[in-house]
Amino acid sequence: MKEKGIHDTNLLAAIGKVPRHLFYFDSTFAEKAYEDIAFQIGDGQTISHPYTVALQSQLLDVKKGEKILEIGTGSGYQTAVLLELGAKVFSVERQKNLYDKTKLLFSEMGYDPRLFYGDGYKGLPNYAPFDKIIVTCGAPEVPAALLSQLKTAGVLVIPLGQKEQVMTTFVKTGENQFHKEEFGEFRFVPMLQDRARGI
Ligand code: SAH
Repeated sequence: MKEKGIHDTNLLAAIGKVPRHLFYFDSTFAEKAYEDIAFQIGDGQTISHPYTVALQSQLLDVKKGEKILEIGTGSGYQTAVLLELGAKVFSVERQKNLYDKTKLLFSEMGYDPRLFYGDGYKGLPNYAPFDKIIVTCGAPEVPAALLSQLKTAGVLVIPLGQKEQVMTTFVKTGENQFHKEEFGEFRFVPMLQDRARGI
Protein backbone atom coordinates (compact mmCIF):
# COMPACT_ATOMS: atom_id res chain seq x y z
CA MET A 1 0.00 0.00 0.00
CA LYS A 2 2.79 2.41 0.97
CA GLU A 3 4.68 1.67 -2.26
CA LYS A 4 1.54 2.47 -4.25
CA GLY A 5 1.20 5.91 -2.62
CA ILE A 6 -1.03 5.31 0.39
CA HIS A 7 0.79 7.53 2.91
CA ASP A 8 -1.93 8.34 5.48
CA THR A 9 -0.69 6.55 8.64
CA ASN A 10 -4.12 6.64 10.36
CA LEU A 11 -5.57 4.95 7.30
CA LEU A 12 -2.86 2.27 7.16
CA ALA A 13 -3.50 1.57 10.86
CA ALA A 14 -7.28 1.35 10.28
CA ILE A 15 -6.80 -1.08 7.39
CA GLY A 16 -4.54 -3.15 9.65
CA LYS A 17 -7.34 -3.47 12.21
CA VAL A 18 -10.05 -4.81 9.87
CA PRO A 19 -10.04 -8.63 9.57
CA ARG A 20 -10.62 -8.73 5.82
CA HIS A 21 -11.15 -12.51 5.64
CA LEU A 22 -14.41 -12.21 7.62
CA PHE A 23 -15.96 -10.20 4.77
CA TYR A 24 -15.68 -13.08 2.33
CA PHE A 25 -18.83 -14.92 3.54
CA ASP A 26 -17.27 -18.21 2.41
CA SER A 27 -14.37 -19.38 4.57
CA THR A 28 -12.87 -21.50 1.76
CA PHE A 29 -11.76 -18.25 0.13
CA ALA A 30 -10.37 -16.71 3.31
CA GLU A 31 -6.76 -17.48 2.36
CA LYS A 32 -7.12 -15.01 -0.53
CA ALA A 33 -8.23 -12.22 1.78
CA TYR A 34 -4.87 -10.52 2.25
CA GLU A 35 -3.74 -10.58 -1.38
CA ASP A 36 -4.09 -7.31 -3.24
CA ILE A 37 -6.96 -8.54 -5.42
CA ALA A 38 -10.68 -7.92 -5.82
CA PHE A 39 -12.94 -10.89 -5.15
CA GLN A 40 -16.42 -12.22 -5.93
CA ILE A 41 -18.60 -12.28 -2.81
CA GLY A 42 -21.70 -13.83 -4.36
CA ASP A 43 -24.72 -12.28 -6.10
CA GLY A 44 -22.32 -11.23 -8.86
CA GLN A 45 -20.75 -8.58 -6.63
CA THR A 46 -17.16 -8.03 -5.65
CA ILE A 47 -15.32 -6.94 -2.55
CA SER A 48 -13.20 -4.07 -3.84
CA HIS A 49 -9.48 -4.36 -4.42
CA PRO A 50 -7.68 -3.39 -1.16
CA TYR A 51 -5.74 -0.66 -2.94
CA THR A 52 -9.00 0.79 -4.30
CA VAL A 53 -10.51 0.85 -0.79
CA ALA A 54 -7.35 2.54 0.51
CA LEU A 55 -7.27 5.14 -2.26
CA GLN A 56 -10.97 6.02 -1.93
CA SER A 57 -10.56 6.30 1.84
CA GLN A 58 -7.49 8.52 1.45
CA LEU A 59 -9.32 10.79 -1.02
CA LEU A 60 -12.21 11.09 1.46
CA ASP A 61 -9.72 12.37 4.07
CA VAL A 62 -11.82 11.07 6.96
CA LYS A 63 -11.71 12.92 10.29
CA LYS A 64 -12.94 11.37 13.55
CA GLY A 65 -16.68 11.88 14.11
CA GLU A 66 -17.49 12.84 10.51
CA LYS A 67 -20.82 11.75 9.05
CA ILE A 68 -20.19 9.72 5.92
CA LEU A 69 -22.65 8.37 3.36
CA GLU A 70 -21.52 5.25 1.49
CA ILE A 71 -23.34 4.01 -1.62
CA GLY A 72 -22.85 0.25 -2.19
CA THR A 73 -22.39 -1.52 1.16
CA GLY A 74 -21.58 -4.84 -0.55
CA SER A 75 -19.47 -7.01 1.75
CA GLY A 76 -19.11 -4.16 4.24
CA TYR A 77 -15.31 -4.12 4.06
CA GLN A 78 -15.06 -0.46 3.01
CA THR A 79 -17.65 0.42 5.68
CA ALA A 80 -15.50 -1.24 8.36
CA VAL A 81 -12.39 0.72 7.28
CA LEU A 82 -14.37 3.99 7.58
CA LEU A 83 -15.64 2.95 11.03
CA GLU A 84 -12.07 2.19 12.16
CA LEU A 85 -11.17 5.73 11.06
CA GLY A 86 -13.72 7.00 13.58
CA ALA A 87 -16.46 8.01 11.13
CA LYS A 88 -20.23 7.67 11.62
CA VAL A 89 -21.18 5.65 8.56
CA PHE A 90 -24.55 5.56 6.79
CA SER A 91 -24.40 2.94 4.05
CA VAL A 92 -26.94 2.06 1.34
CA GLU A 93 -27.19 -1.26 -0.57
CA ARG A 94 -29.73 -2.03 -3.32
CA GLN A 95 -29.58 -5.84 -2.99
CA LYS A 96 -31.70 -7.13 -0.13
CA ASN A 97 -29.78 -10.39 0.36
CA LEU A 98 -26.41 -8.59 0.56
CA TYR A 99 -27.91 -6.00 2.91
CA ASP A 100 -29.20 -8.80 5.19
CA LYS A 101 -25.94 -10.78 5.16
CA THR A 102 -23.76 -7.76 5.86
CA LYS A 103 -26.06 -6.48 8.62
CA LEU A 104 -25.76 -9.83 10.39
CA LEU A 105 -21.98 -9.89 9.95
CA PHE A 106 -21.61 -6.41 11.46
CA SER A 107 -23.69 -7.32 14.52
CA GLU A 108 -21.54 -10.44 15.01
CA MET A 109 -18.35 -8.40 14.69
CA GLY A 110 -19.54 -5.61 16.98
CA TYR A 111 -19.39 -2.86 14.33
CA ASP A 112 -22.25 -0.37 14.38
CA PRO A 113 -22.89 1.35 11.04
CA ARG A 114 -26.36 2.56 9.98
CA LEU A 115 -27.31 0.27 7.08
CA PHE A 116 -30.13 0.93 4.61
CA TYR A 117 -31.72 -1.21 1.90
CA GLY A 118 -32.40 1.39 -0.78
CA ASP A 119 -31.40 3.13 -3.99
CA GLY A 120 -28.16 5.04 -3.66
CA TYR A 121 -29.11 7.38 -6.53
CA LYS A 122 -31.48 9.03 -4.03
CA GLY A 123 -28.94 9.24 -1.20
CA LEU A 124 -30.48 9.53 2.28
CA PRO A 125 -32.36 12.86 2.32
CA ASN A 126 -33.63 12.26 5.89
CA TYR A 127 -30.08 12.06 7.24
CA ALA A 128 -28.43 14.74 5.06
CA PRO A 129 -26.23 16.73 4.97
CA PHE A 130 -23.07 14.62 5.07
CA ASP A 131 -19.44 15.65 5.58
CA LYS A 132 -18.30 13.17 2.95
CA ILE A 133 -19.91 10.80 0.42
CA ILE A 134 -18.27 7.72 -1.13
CA VAL A 135 -19.71 5.71 -4.02
CA THR A 136 -18.30 2.18 -4.38
CA CYS A 137 -20.00 1.21 -7.65
CA GLY A 138 -19.35 2.59 -11.15
CA ALA A 139 -21.69 5.53 -11.77
CA PRO A 140 -22.56 6.49 -15.38
CA GLU A 141 -23.15 10.07 -14.19
CA VAL A 142 -23.02 12.05 -10.94
CA PRO A 143 -26.30 11.59 -9.06
CA ALA A 144 -27.65 15.10 -8.39
CA ALA A 145 -29.12 14.01 -5.03
CA LEU A 146 -25.64 13.17 -3.75
CA LEU A 147 -24.21 16.57 -4.63
CA SER A 148 -27.10 18.29 -2.88
CA GLN A 149 -26.69 16.15 0.27
CA LEU A 150 -23.06 17.22 0.72
CA LYS A 151 -22.08 19.92 3.26
CA THR A 152 -20.12 22.92 2.01
CA ALA A 153 -16.40 21.96 1.95
CA GLY A 154 -17.53 18.32 1.84
CA VAL A 155 -16.07 15.77 -0.58
CA LEU A 156 -17.76 13.28 -2.91
CA VAL A 157 -15.53 10.41 -4.11
CA ILE A 158 -17.09 8.59 -7.07
CA PRO A 159 -15.87 6.29 -9.86
CA LEU A 160 -17.42 7.79 -13.02
CA GLY A 161 -17.97 5.98 -16.31
CA GLN A 162 -19.74 3.09 -18.03
CA LYS A 163 -17.32 0.20 -18.74
CA GLU A 164 -14.31 1.67 -17.02
CA GLN A 165 -14.44 4.41 -14.45
CA VAL A 166 -12.29 7.39 -13.62
CA MET A 167 -11.93 7.94 -9.88
CA THR A 168 -13.25 11.46 -9.42
CA THR A 169 -13.58 13.82 -6.47
CA PHE A 170 -15.92 16.80 -6.14
CA VAL A 171 -15.24 19.28 -3.33
CA LYS A 172 -18.28 21.48 -2.62
CA THR A 173 -16.95 25.04 -2.70
CA GLY A 174 -20.31 26.84 -2.64
CA GLU A 175 -24.10 26.32 -2.81
CA ASN A 176 -23.90 24.96 -6.37
CA GLN A 177 -20.15 25.05 -6.98
CA PHE A 178 -17.76 22.13 -7.07
CA HIS A 179 -14.06 21.61 -7.66
CA LYS A 180 -13.47 18.43 -9.68
CA GLU A 181 -10.29 16.27 -9.78
CA GLU A 182 -9.51 12.90 -11.38
CA PHE A 183 -7.34 10.05 -10.07
CA GLY A 184 -6.93 7.32 -12.69
CA GLU A 185 -8.92 4.42 -14.11
CA PHE A 186 -10.64 1.63 -12.21
CA ARG A 187 -13.25 -1.06 -12.83
CA PHE A 188 -16.28 -1.32 -10.56
CA VAL A 189 -19.57 -3.21 -10.73
CA PRO A 190 -22.18 -0.82 -12.16
CA MET A 191 -24.33 1.54 -10.12
CA LEU A 192 -27.84 0.39 -11.05
CA GLN A 193 -31.17 2.22 -10.77
CA ASP A 194 -33.69 1.32 -8.06
CA ARG A 195 -33.65 -1.35 -5.39
CA ALA A 196 -33.42 -4.95 -6.54
CA ARG A 197 -36.28 -7.14 -5.35
CA GLY A 198 -35.37 -9.15 -2.27
CA ILE A 199 -35.33 -12.93 -2.19
N1 SAH B 1 -17.99 -1.24 -0.67
C1 SAH B 1 -18.16 -2.61 -1.11
C2 SAH B 1 -18.13 -2.70 -2.64
C3 SAH B 1 -19.15 -3.68 -3.15
S1 SAH B 1 -19.42 -3.69 -4.90
C4 SAH B 1 -17.14 -3.51 -0.45
O1 SAH B 1 -16.18 -3.01 0.17
O2 SAH B 1 -17.29 -4.72 -0.50
C5 SAH B 1 -20.62 -2.38 -5.13
C6 SAH B 1 -21.98 -2.54 -4.47
O3 SAH B 1 -22.80 -1.46 -4.93
C7 SAH B 1 -22.73 -3.83 -4.83
O4 SAH B 1 -23.04 -4.52 -3.67
C8 SAH B 1 -23.99 -3.33 -5.55
O5 SAH B 1 -25.14 -4.12 -5.29
C9 SAH B 1 -24.14 -1.94 -4.97
N2 SAH B 1 -24.96 -1.01 -5.77
C10 SAH B 1 -25.04 -0.87 -7.13
N3 SAH B 1 -25.92 0.10 -7.46
C11 SAH B 1 -26.42 0.60 -6.28
C12 SAH B 1 -27.39 1.61 -5.96
N4 SAH B 1 -28.05 2.31 -6.90
N5 SAH B 1 -27.64 1.84 -4.65
C13 SAH B 1 -27.01 1.14 -3.66
N6 SAH B 1 -26.09 0.18 -3.91
C14 SAH B 1 -25.80 -0.10 -5.20
